[in-house]
Amino acid sequence: MASPLLVNIAELLRRAGSTREVEKQVDASEFNFSDERIVAGSKVAVDLTLEALTDGIVVRGVLQADWRCECRRCLRSLSGRAEVEVQELYQLVISDPDAYPISGEQLDLLEMTRENVLLAVPLAPLCRVDCPGLCPQCGADLHTSPCSCASEVRDERWAALDALKIDKDQPK
Ligand SMILES: [Zn+2]
Ligand SMILES: [Zn+2]
Repeated sequence: MASPLLVNIAELLRRAGSTREVEKQVDASEFNFSDERIVAGSKVAVDLTLEALTDGIVVRGVLQADWRCECRRCLRSLSGRAEVEVQELYQLVISDPDAYPISGEQLDLLEMTRENVLLAVPLAPLCRVDCPGLCPQCGADLHTSPCSCASEVRDERWAALDALKIDKDQPK
């Protein structure tokens, strides 16, 4: 199946400095993200400017994608829209190790978009910076239901500290 982000650049390559806009909404399924964070059925927004250089094309612009995952502490579901600014190089003859290839008179923005979107979606987000999470003992959601184990946990910690102190205080 042809890439939905294949761009013909024959025109661009004729004159260094010439530009072309690519503005598209591409279904997330086209990218084969194999990543549950990318919302299935959503659109990835691609808004790029291609500019011809003497030996390639520089691509600049913004990519956006919808993500969904769980707070790493309390497991609440979170969602958002990742936005990433990109500046990438495409070359006919690859001399820059980070460059993407140009094949013939076509350039495919799919893999570049895929890689940048995956880097832009959060890896292990928190619902808020001070998320209290779940009680490690009873599993209660500490946002809403402070459980009775809380004090025991604290007591255990104090006990551990006291034990350390006693060790230190004891003459060797
Ligand atoms: Zn949370
Ligand atoms: Zn608890």
